[in-house]
Amino acid sequence: MKITAEPLALDTEIVEMLYSNNRRSLLAAVVVMVALVFIQYDLIPIKVLAVWSSVFLMAYGARAYITIQYYRDHQREQHVQQWLNRFRVNSGLCGAAWGLAGILLFPEANTSHQAFLIFALVGVAGAGVIVYSVDTICSNLFAGGLLALMIPRFLFDGSQLSIALAILFIVYVVYVTIAGRSLASSLRENITLRIASNLDNKKVHQLAYYDFLTNLPNRRLLADRLNQAFVRCARSQSYGAVLSLDLNNFKCLNDSKGHLAGDELLQQVAQRLQNTLRKKDTIARAGGDEFIAVLDDLGRDKAQAVHAAQLAAEKLMGAFSQPFQLKNCKYRTMPSIGICMFYGDESNEAEVLRRADIAMYQAKKSENLNSVQLYDEALHPAIELRATLESDLAFALQANQFSLYYQLQVDQAQRPIGAEVLLRWQHPTLGMVPPNQFIPIAEESGMIVSIGNWVLMQACLQLKAWQSMPWGSSLKLSVNVSALQFSQPDFVETVINTVQTSKCDPHHLRLELTESLIVKNIDDVIDKINMLKKIGITFSLDDFGIGQSSLSVLKRLPLDELKIDKSFISDILHNNSDTFIVQTIINMGKNLGHNVIAEGVELKQQKHLLQKLGCNAYQGFLFCRPLPLQEFEAKLTHIHSA
Ligand code: C2E
Ligand code: MG
Ligand code: MG
Repeated sequence: MKITAEPLALDTEIVEMLYSNNRRSLLAAVVVMVALVFIQYDLIPIKVLAVWSSVFLMAYGARAYITIQYYRDHQREQHVQQWLNRFRVNSGLCGAAWGLAGILLFPEANTSHQAFLIFALVGVAGAGVIVYSVDTICSNLFAGGLLALMIPRFLFDGSQLSIALAILFIVYVVYVTIAGRSLASSLRENITLRIASNLDNKKVHQLAYYDFLTNLPNRRLLADRLNQAFVRCARSQSYGAVLSLDLNNFKCLNDSKGHLAGDELLQQVAQRLQNTLRKKDTIARAGGDEFIAVLDDLGRDKAQAVHAAQLAAEKLMGAFSQPFQLKNCKYRTMPSIGICMFYGDESNEAEVLRRADIAMYQAKKSENLNSVQLYDEALHPAIELRATLESDLAFALQANQFSLYYQLQVDQAQRPIGAEVLLRWQHPTLGMVPPNQFIPIAEESGMIVSIGNWVLMQACLQLKAWQSMPWGSSLKLSVNVSALQFSQPDFVETVINTVQTSKCDPHHLRLELTESLIVKNIDDVIDKINMLKKIGITFSLDDFGIGQSSLSVLKRLPLDELKIDKSFISDILHNNSDTFIVQTIINMGKNLGHNVIAEGVELKQQKHLLQKLGCNAYQGFLFCRPLPLQEFEAKLTHIHSA
């Protein structure tokens, strides 16, 4: 396997090695130089000795100078090449200084002193080549400088001994250079290995503790930092805070502009948040569009600490005052922030994070969007319930926890004409959860689409089963369709497939829409309704009267039925304006050619009044409560046989 390290990191290590060896090699060089001068003192003129010593001191003085400068340069890692070049040039100079010794300190007729000189230079050359071997150019320059000056002098001397010494010297230097090379290559390999494993460790650490997209600490590191903050706060007996920050409408950006735009926004948000907080505070990405800030050391006084945390939250809010410049557009967004205070060691990390989340969630729900909310014990139960429902809903469909109830619809003579399918969730610990509690959650998370499709399929299968019953052949079945479900591009296709798969008669299927749906893209709504009407499906407008649809829009909708909202029925006996509204709805429905049904009819008097006002269909506890399948079938069998 080929191991690679970043070239720059390798050069840095090599240069560091060269300079760090300098102190010892400087000392050794000076010792050899003094010994040489001392031994050759009697044979070489003092002037010549002085010249050589000066050259030597200049070369090694320069070495000492650049070494000092190197260690003074705190950004030397960024100037690696310059420091390497300086060292190389100096190596050549130092080699030449030793080579000059071969010329100037050569004792003409004294073979034993010649031998001493060559002995000293052999030692210097060998040591130099080995010490500089991590950088081949360096060791070549040193050896080259030395040989280039010294060898000619020995060769020109003409004596057999000095020629033999020169040749031996060359052989020796070549041999040491080759040995030095292989030493250098294994040294480089070692350095490379070390750097590569350091890089790997760094990478593993980065992946384990930092968010890939934003480079902020992830949940794991957050937990660690939070626990450290607990310890610090316990020690200093001061308060800290966790701020949970969630972007408003982030899903919209992702859906409308794509995930790349979403990622870009998250990166910019991370950057701004980081720039806003103090260096010692932690800002982490907890996942999705949720960020967590940990502030500690907010003081010993709780009120002041809360104030400081709120100020920090406002500062974070301030980071969103300018729009974000994404690749293809400018984008404005604001967060909601929840704060949970903590005090030292007894705090539980998961609990503190959960409370900050609850407060953030409360901030999101508040009328004043972009708000900051401090965790309040009193909010706990309701929000906790919602959080439980939200997480459990994700598994409810798979776990078969949904069932359908059926509520009868009758005509003026109280004969069965249809039924509405009403969804029920049997929660394993909470028992029956009413749809008004879980359907809004399913709508927010988008789960309503798959849940709604499941309801539709069950309803169609039921319709098919009832077609063979004596009472079932004329019964219409109404199914509630959520706005999100209806707006799916493949809604029409899904309904047609469901009808075909279940083999039910689409003329008996009625889809209940709400007014919230028709405020959006009315043409698309009309097209979809028409396509489904073609196969015989009929449409009802549910909870009619509480929305804001205008008459002109209503006129264009190819509906079959208006369903008067139960809030008008409940007060119809005592509230004249409700009576007036109901009368108007009935007249309007009739004028548009629609059937009108009243829901929530609980009292006989209500039914009588509605009948007088011209209503011809009813649904309500007065006739039948929503019932599970078997009870509903038993009831209809009973009515039929009566
Ligand atoms: P909705 O479609 O308006 O359904 C009528 C609601 O009124 C039902 O509440 C029903 O039980 C209740 N109700 C019927 N008669 C009376 C009465 O005489 N008095 C009173 N006080 N209430 C009566 P439920 O079953 O709790 O459903 C509530 C809402 O949940 C439904 O209102 C509908 O909007 C939604 N929902 C139920 N099932 C589904 C479903 O399968 N899909 C979708 N998207 N929404 C559903
Ligand atoms: Mg309904
Ligand atoms: Mg309704």
